[in-house]
Amino acid sequence: MRYEGNIFRPPSEANSLIVQVTIGCAHNDCTFCSMFKDKVFRVRPVDEVIEDLEGARRVYGRVRRIFLADGDALALSVDKLLAILKKIEELFPEAERVAVYGSPQDVLRKSPEELAALRGAGVGIIYLGAESGSDAVLNAVKKGATAAEITEAIVKIEDSGIDASVTFISGLAGTDGSDGHAVMTGRMISEAQPSYVGLLTLMIDPAAPLYADLKSGRFKLLSPMGVIDETALLLENTEVRKDCVFRSNHASNYFSLKGTLPRDKERLLSELRSARNHNELLKDERFRLL
Ligand code: SF4
Repeated sequence: MRYEGNIFRPPSEANSLIVQVTIGCAHNDCTFCSMFKDKVFRVRPVDEVIEDLEGARRVYGRVRRIFLADGDALALSVDKLLAILKKIEELFPEAERVAVYGSPQDVLRKSPEELAALRGAGVGIIYLGAESGSDAVLNAVKKGATAAEITEAIVKIEDSGIDASVTFISGLAGTDGSDGHAVMTGRMISEAQPSYVGLLTLMIDPAAPLYADLKSGRFKLLSPMGVIDETALLLENTEVRKDCVFRSNHASNYFSLKGTLPRDKERLLSELRSARNHNELLKDERFRLL
């Protein structure tokens, strides 16, 4: 398996076979993100990806899950994705699921029929970084998509039978916009009804454009207790009608939450109230990781 540069994957793909079908991220403009700043985006030739899959088959025994990287593998045309998925089915008949990162624009460019075809060919989950439900925040961080577009993309994924796993970033609005970020994010989850929601907590790498704002004082980081309050406000504004797995158990989070909404909402809020009163329950800054 050939890898180019640093590889990123969602926590739940820790045991997956990772295959780069793109290098980098087509957008690569979000101010808080440094993941692919050292890469110029390109789509890898399908033949090259297939060679890697064949190489992996010779090395690995049972492969249960496969994750197509980098930043937005869903940027590939449906024809190319289907060719790769067909090869995966041939080489790894035991694989239970193929997962991809996809940007809102990647999803919106695909028709419902194309998404259904990807579902039929093995794609079980699309990871989408929404980051915030607030247009003010999305605009400030140069996400390149509006809240309405992100909501539409999530609904489209779920309607196709593929699970949407959507990531939001606690603290992304800093101290000034925290309440609006929380309320609008809760509203986006309520409207879009994704199967999975993951919360990360903002950490700003020196290579991220937002770092300069942090250093100059234009951006003020939320305190750990501010993050707890923001998460509680987000949850209070979240009303889902079908099961939604809600997690904040990423290495960047101060406090770990895991439950299924709507049934665990009160328990999660109660855990946040405990964290509010017991500082010692929060992860020490030294142990947080991106
Ligand atoms: S956050 Fe996602 S879309 Fe934005 S630059 Fe990073 S990888 Fe690309």
